[in-house]
Amino acid sequence: MSSKKKKFKKVLIANRGEIACRVIQSVQEAGMQAVALYSCADKHALHVSLADEAFHLPGNTPTETYLDTAQILKICAESKVDAVHPGYGFLSENTQFAEACEKAGITFIGPTADVIHKMGDKIISKETMIAAGVPVVPGWAGELSTEYSVIEKEADKIGYPLLVKAAAGGGGKGMRRVDQKADLKSALEAAGREAQKAFGDARVFLEKYITRPRHIEFQIFGDSHGSAVHLFERECSIQRRYQKIIEESPSPVMTPELRAKMGDAAVKAAKALGYQNAGTVEFIVSESGEFYFLEVNTRLQVEHPVTEMVTHLDLVRLQLQIAMGEKLPFTQDDLKQSGHAIECRIYAEDTANNFMPSVGKLQKYRLPQGSGIRVDNGYPEGYEVTVYYDPMLAKLIVWGEDRGAAIAKMRWALDHFVALGVTTNIEYLKKILDHPEFVAGKIHTHFLDEHAISVNDQPPPEVFAVAALAGQKSVASNGNGQGSVQTSPWQLAGHWRGGA
Ligand code: ADP
Ligand code: ADP
Ligand code: MG
Repeated sequence: MSSKKKKFKKVLIANRGEIACRVIQSVQEAGMQAVALYSCADKHALHVSLADEAFHLPGNTPTETYLDTAQILKICAESKVDAVHPGYGFLSENTQFAEACEKAGITFIGPTADVIHKMGDKIISKETMIAAGVPVVPGWAGELSTEYSVIEKEADKIGYPLLVKAAAGGGGKGMRRVDQKADLKSALEAAGREAQKAFGDARVFLEKYITRPRHIEFQIFGDSHGSAVHLFERECSIQRRYQKIIEESPSPVMTPELRAKMGDAAVKAAKALGYQNAGTVEFIVSESGEFYFLEVNTRLQVEHPVTEMVTHLDLVRLQLQIAMGEKLPFTQDDLKQSGHAIECRIYAEDTANNFMPSVGKLQKYRLPQGSGIRVDNGYPEGYEVTVYYDPMLAKLIVWGEDRGAAIAKMRWALDHFVALGVTTNIEYLKKILDHPEFVAGKIHTHFLDEHAISVNDQPPPEVFAVAALAGQKSVASNGNGQGSVQTSPWQLAGHWRGGA
């Protein structure tokens, strides 16, 4: 990205689902044309009908569609787009794609290829942060060929439990917790194999395992004129298998002092990288309040809406402005956090059956609406959910004046989210929100395991159907919040446990 000012007329969104819809909205609001891509399975997805132009990518697997850079670049040329927004996942952190776009004279909306490359490697990114004076988790990284006895000694120095992590890791893949020396060798081998398979890169490294930590990340933004700011934190400790499910801002444990320290570290990281556009600096925070750098995600994050809700900013709009060479329209001191926002990821999955992705037609699909409720959704009613892509259907985001109000609003909104035809995690999310320790803000990354949160008794689909129909009638005639209690399927089944 150069600092020369440009004006985009047309932007291609190299993605699908809710994030494609989210990006299209800001592109069109900025007076630009949005170009969409779609696979066979996505012919009827929302992003296709929202866009000004849509191009078909024959096939269904990610490799033959949303990851096919040659085809996507050809469409960019044919449609004469000025820029590409990669969303998250797919090509968003692909150095070669970012380079190829720039070579073709198309702006890649994101940081420079060099920064994407450096931050895509957890070993290089940790070294960069150490040099910049940002605290990192103690650990060890060496050559693949290092003698095992040397690694074993390094592991002893770190102490157990420790984590074996993949240098190229992402999405929680390629990580192994090791509790004792005897298990180290097999964990190294297994993580290396998994990393080779998932990322084509077998390099792994060791990191001290922080027990009962919190995952707290900072949204950063930099421009091509040398300015960088942070847009406060997101608490993402509610995770399953190292993947976030519920995110919020502010973090319930954040103090002004800790926020200032972590925010400074995040901006230091951004400045050390000459960071341009949107990014996230992830930290892990120990029980005693020490924080350590984990990684930088060089893209728009899934959970960016919680930041938008508390800062009243449009992060995609900002991404477009920065990519066109404009300056950040504010300084750190201009930025304020107000109220409290929570996001729940709504997945088509069977929480009672090992969280297996659930496929099928969205026979009835009604999204909650009302004051302080936002749904970032990717699909229309009648859409056929397939096995090809991520099982996330939508993100439900709420804003309240404080955390209690936001929890109550989320609880209400979940009661009014109707998705029939697939199994969803909605009941599971309600269980988390109802848990007294969640309500008290006592969360950490082992929360779901430690409290054995599970839904083993999903009501049969017909209970949902009846409740959904009843809900529509009764909410219309009884808008005082009682409607949701009376018509919740769990209320019918006697499972409603009182909101926050
Ligand atoms: P977030 O904090 O935004 O959820 P994640 O790291 O969990 O970030 O990833 C977001 C999306 O990107 C998920 O759909 C995940 O599967 C995908 N993803 C993350 N890293 C990679 C990677 N290295 N290769 C392919 N997909 C990835
Ligand atoms: P990914 O690229 O897969 O997102 P991260 O390094 O960001 O990998 O870690 C993902 C999650 O794994 C974190 O949010 C946290 O829950 C857990 N984790 C990572 N590193 C550690 C650590 N050193 N100690 C404890 N938990 C960790
Ligand atoms: Mg991460």
